[in-house]
Amino acid sequence: MSNPSFAIKGRCPGALQPMASGDGLIVRVRPPLGRLSAAQALRVAELAQQYGSGVLELSTRANVQLRGVAPAQHPALLQALAAQGLLDTDARSESLRCIVLDPFWQPGDGLQAGALALQQAVLGAAGLDGLPAKFGWAVGLPGRPALAAVSADVRLWCADGQRWWLQPDGQAQTIACPDLDAALAAALALARWCAAQARARRAQGLHPGRMARLWSADAPQHIAPPPGCHWQASPVAPHTATEMLAPPPGAQPQGHWLLAAPLGRIPAADFARLAQALAAQGGDAGLRITPWRMVLAEGAPPADVGRWIADANDPRLRVWACSGAPGCDQALAPTLALAEELALHLPPGAQLHVAGCAKGCAHPGATTLALCAQAEAAPAGGDPLFALIDQGRADAPAQAHRAYHRASALLAQPALLQCRP
Ligand code: SF4
Repeated sequence: MSNPSFAIKGRCPGALQPMASGDGLIVRVRPPLGRLSAAQALRVAELAQQYGSGVLELSTRANVQLRGVAPAQHPALLQALAAQGLLDTDARSESLRCIVLDPFWQPGDGLQAGALALQQAVLGAAGLDGLPAKFGWAVGLPGRPALAAVSADVRLWCADGQRWWLQPDGQAQTIACPDLDAALAAALALARWCAAQARARRAQGLHPGRMARLWSADAPQHIAPPPGCHWQASPVAPHTATEMLAPPPGAQPQGHWLLAAPLGRIPAADFARLAQALAAQGGDAGLRITPWRMVLAEGAPPADVGRWIADANDPRLRVWACSGAPGCDQALAPTLALAEELALHLPPGAQLHVAGCAKGCAHPGATTLALCAQAEAAPAGGDPLFALIDQGRADAPAQAHRAYHRASALLAQPALLQCRP
């Protein structure tokens, strides 16, 4: 196993490359093609209890992460993950294997096979060194708006089970490909172009950015489509807003269930109970990790879903919060308990983002209401101050702050969160 590096920011953590945080290491497990068997899911839950904080987090890249892992225990955790087939052979493979597969894939629709072929092509390709650290892919069917909103540099849309459209992030053009082999060649052409652009920017001392930032109007002239492929106006409108879209939890066609983790976090015990319920059904039902703070349970969930959310009207689906203090070493305040409590009082239809600092990791866009923890010259011991922002992001400038409230005041008077008309 390669030597792990703990403190690198500006990239997505992995298992081999965990990220140091205020409560220990964040170890992100990337399930193969976004799916855990019931046995794997159960083992991951056990590992979160044995080596981590006992909570599992679902990432917006359809991964599941443990946090609070002591560096000294990291090697043992890696060994346990490897025994489950949940560890890449090296850090390069782990970084490159960043593919969000539409969790609603069905046998024979071409998506799972396409994602697997893409994974193999990317891992075996040359010329990808220097890709932006967060470079990733999405594979799905066109017309799934929630997947169009997922963070990805290139989206591979399976047009009709045969033809593919490859859409660089944010662009109104796609490379139309007659079959999967051509699509893979086009995918690598796009990735190599992106890697070359990123290397050039780094050579100039600039941050490389990602595909959307590196793109320019004449980029298609420099990316020759493979034989049989051509550039065309995209049949899928690019998703340019930072709005988070997600399907509602609950029963799905094919007998599956979508279950949401409150604020993207679920006790390992609830994760384990769900895995056990799937295992008890027999067959090979598993869990698909979605990029929407949810899992898709292949089969009926237990009668008692514990902390999972199965009700599409649960107000916590409209609330986002980062780990805050003490989990994040940059946090100016705890966030999670405040967010859960305020969710109960959220005006109908309103969204709330509670951020431990202006970085706003939990939600990149504007929400109806945002609370951003403030640095204070003279903190009022243990009672943090939050700026209240209407229709904005956590990093809104001071002139956009409607008011400042202490956490205790917000809890005592949730009416302070009334939306501006
Ligand atoms: S928003 Fe700030 S406090 Fe919250 S996780 Fe990000 S860096 Fe940490």
